[in-house]
Amino acid sequence: MKNVKKKLVMPGKEIASTEEMIAGEGTFEDKGKIRASRIGEVQIDEDSKVVSVRPATSTPVRVKKGDVVIGEVREVRNSIVVVDIVQVEGNKRSLYGDKTAVIRVAEISKRYVKDPLTEYRIGDIVRAKVTQDYPNLQLSTKGSEFGVIKSLCVKCRQPLKLKGNTLECERCGNRETRKISKYYGKGNI
Ligand SMILES: [Zn+2]
Repeated sequence: MKNVKKKLVMPGKEIASTEEMIAGEGTFEDKGKIRASRIGEVQIDEDSKVVSVRPATSTPVRVKKGDVVIGEVREVRNSIVVVDIVQVEGNKRSLYGDKTAVIRVAEISKRYVKDPLTEYRIGDIVRAKVTQDYPNLQLSTKGSEFGVIKSLCVKCRQPLKLKGNTLECERCGNRETRKISKYYGKGNI
């Protein structure tokens, strides 16, 4: 018996306790809690008590130019950031077609960015605008409304808290920089 909640959760989101559930795919344990390690839908197997987070399902939608999207950073290279688009903002349906997009270094910020690694890291959840949908998907995170909306500590995977203009891990004290959206931590999806 599988129970899928049609609700997207963000990485780091608490979804169960280890006393009642077993951490499955797409989750991790943290001090007696089970948290999502990726963006997706919560799935609970009532028989085995395994809770997992699966990529979103249901009627698909295609990403197009002008959309505002939520994506997860898959790779950061010298001149581009590779993002897996997980959702068109405001539309809970899953996606079909091409879901892999790139942010060129000049499209990260209105500021000059020399090294994309100072702005984005693998696993970051970003809010971005689609600037091109053919022949490949391209995104921009220029402007205060775009950029990282959720980020985990690279050292201990605790969700980072926004402190002024930097992100700080309350567990290990690690401080990290990003291209931060004004919606950071607001959970607007
Ligand atoms: Zn940390």
